[in-house]
Parts: sequence; structure tokens; C-alpha cells
Amino acid sequence: MKFKVPRGTQDILPSESWKWQKLERMIHEVCDLYRYEEIRTPMFEQTELFQRTVGDTTDIVTKEMYTFKDRGDRSMTLRPEGTAPVVRSFVENKMFGWPDQPVKLYYIEPMFRYERQQAGRYRQFVQFGTEAIGSADPAIDAEVIALALDVYKRAGLKDIKLVLNSLGDQVSRAAHRDALVEHFKPSISEFCADCQSRLEKNPLRILDCKVDREHPLMKTAPSLTDYLNDESRAYFDKLQQLLTAAGISFELDPNLVRGLDYYNHTAFEIMSAAEGFGAITTLCGGGRYNGLAEEIGGPSAPGIGFGMSIERLLLALEAESAELENDDALDIYVVSLGEAAKDRAFEVLQTLRAAGIRADMDYMDRKMKAQMKSADRLRAKWVAVIGEEEVERNIVQLKNMAEGTQQSVSADELVKNILAAGN
Ligand code: ATP
Ligand code: MG
Repeated sequence: MKFKVPRGTQDILPSESWKWQKLERMIHEVCDLYRYEEIRTPMFEQTELFQRTVGDTTDIVTKEMYTFKDRGDRSMTLRPEGTAPVVRSFVENKMFGWPDQPVKLYYIEPMFRYERQQAGRYRQFVQFGTEAIGSADPAIDAEVIALALDVYKRAGLKDIKLVLNSLGDQVSRAAHRDALVEHFKPSISEFCADCQSRLEKNPLRILDCKVDREHPLMKTAPSLTDYLNDESRAYFDKLQQLLTAAGISFELDPNLVRGLDYYNHTAFEIMSAAEGFGAITTLCGGGRYNGLAEEIGGPSAPGIGFGMSIERLLLALEAESAELENDDALDIYVVSLGEAAKDRAFEVLQTLRAAGIRADMDYMDRKMKAQMKSADRLRAKWVAVIGEEEVERNIVQLKNMAEGTQQSVSADELVKNILAAGN
């Protein structure tokens, strides 16, 4: 019998996992700079949480969820996105009562969506997301956007652009909704079955349809921008003003509606403009979700956040030929010849590690030449050779690989020598 990794998932092997660690470390640092704190929620939730918040007519809820009955006959769903679980936790843990508002949270966690497999689209992927809950100040929208851009910049991406839209408040959206129904209704039979059911339930979703994207009525559809009331417009203007003052450039796209129902006011995407990135150019999507906390039984707590996958960030780096710097070279490899030397090598190894020096040795009883090859492959900066004589005299032969020099050093002085050379 042969087993394979499930379709749409991947094993992240050591040749790649160092990149993940590096990006994750950088993300923790950036979040710390902005005073966002980490939250970890369960990998599955009650199915209804996502149905209620993400929305019954969205692709995620209608086609992509991993839903199962547990042994207690409850319907559970593997988390397809991070916002609903975080807001659920915000309400459940009464974070609205915490002294510092808004509550600023982030997560780096796997998400699950049953999607058609293609480049940049996995069934399990890792999303980094932030949620700032409790404030309806456009400055927090600007902060969240700036944070996401900082992460891409620090990762080394250059060819990215920020695209912005406002979905307006409930009043603006209701007026726009009516206009959309009027626009699409006479020709709705020309659209896919999904769009036909969206017409009454949620016509805005039609604009996000991947099947009817090219239909001529899409281009002429009434734009949300024309239906923004004064309050919504003022909010959007203020955000643009703050971004501009911070030196953040953006494009406006009145058709940007995002794939989740709970968004209002600010909606944004960060896209890769790199040539050869392929069909999927969205790296990050986010927006404001005032009303979401109430939707799941909490008090009013306006929020804004985004989600970006590490998978797409890595693809974008590849498309730009931007290399992450691999700094995991070994400090020292201990070569040993003979049984007694091997025992000594292990002792030395543990002393080195205790001093914070990255060290390894041979466990395969290989010849000296093969051990030296390992040291090379591991890019060891130093090699310590221990033979019979070295055991007797309690020394090691210490080679500096970059300089090609060698000296005898007492085993006790070894750590000191390496630390003194700054590794
Ligand atoms: P798309 O239109 O590409 O399907 P979406 O609207 O479903 O995107 P969101 O739910 O807003 O995307 O997710 C935010 C981010 O999560 C995306 O911009 C992308 O970086 C990442 N993402 C979403 N789905 C996947 C996936 N299947 N595999 C890898 N990354 C994904
Ligand atoms: Mg999607």
C-alpha cells in the first residue's frame, strides 16, 4: 500500500521550513512593534459560526468548508478563516471589558478550504492575520494596512501594490443593493446558477463571481462608490488622507468587494505586480467588519483585520527572485577518529551547545574524509578534529574553514576560542 500527502496539502521539508521559520519570526517582530498580541484559537469550531458570519452565499460556506459530525452528533468545521473564531473569542472572553481598547490580536495558523488545487491555492494553508477590535477610527484601518505592507517589505518584496475600496455602511449598502438587483434582474438568466440565487440573497456577491466575470453587465454594474452616504465618504476620505501622509501609495478599485459577507467600509487587497506570478495576484485581503461581534451575540465592537497566506508570500518572493537569507550555517563540526575520540567528541559537543554554539558530529562511524564532507555541506565555520593523540593530550585540532588555518587548542579553551572569534 502506498500513501500520499492529501491533495491540496504539502509536506514542508527542511529545505523549505527554514524559510517559514524566518518569515514567522519576522512577523512576530513586526506585530510586537505595532503592539499586536498573539491569540491561538482551536482548529475547529461549530459550523454555525462560519455560516452566520462568513455568509451563506459565499464560496467558502457553500463549497469550501471541511464540515463533519463529531461523535456527539454536533456539526463542526475546520476553520476556513481566522476572523470569525477571533471575534467569537473576543465576545466569549469579554475582551470588550479589557482596559486597552481596541484589542489588537494576531495569529499564524493553518486554515482549511476544499478548493480546486492550483498554484497558490491549497486545501490547508497558513494564514497570518491581525484583528483590531473595539475602535471605528480610520487611523486603525491605516495602521492595519501599514502593518501588512511592512511584513511584505521586510520579507523583501518590492513589486506590490495596495488596492482600496469602501463598501460603505449599512445604509449605503442597502441603496446599492437595490440598484444592483435592478441592474441584473432583467438578464439574470444569462448568469450561472450561483448568481441567480445570489440576486435575491446577496447581489453584491455577483460582482465577486469567478464564472461570470466577463459578462458585459459586470462592467456596467452600479458602483458602490456612487452610493456612499456622507458619513461613509468622510470615513474613506480620512483613511486615504492618513495613508498618503504616511507615504503609503494605493489604487482605488470600486469593484473590490472581497469574498466574505461581513465586510463594510474599508476593503483592501495587497497584490503582487511581479511578472510571472500567474493568475493569482492577491497576496493579502482585509477589511472592516463593524457589526460582526453583534452578529454572534456580543456587544457592538467594530473591527478591522486582514489575512495573508505564507504560501502566497513565498510564491511572490519566488516570482521576484527575492531570496531569503539562509543563516542556519553550523558553527562547528566535530570530526572524530576512533572509539575514544568519539566519546570525547560527544562530551565536547555538549559543552559547545551549552555555550550557545551550534555544533554537530558524525554518528555513522564514517572515515575522516566523509566527515569533512559533512562539515562542508553543513557550511560549518569551524571543524574540530579529535584523534587518539588529541584524546591523550586533552586537545583538539581547530580548523577555521574560511581562513584555512589550524591550531591546537585545549578542550577547555575551545569554547572561549570560538566565542572570541565571534563564531
Ligand atoms: P481568493 O479570491 O484568492 O480565493 P479569498 O477572497 O478567498 O481569495 P481571503 O479569504 O480573503 O481570500 O483570504 C485572505 C488571503 O488568504 C488571500 O489573500 C491569500 O493570501 C490567502 N488564501 C486564501 N485562500 C488560500 C488558499 N486556498 N491557499 C493559499 N492561500 C490562500
Ligand atoms: Mg477563495
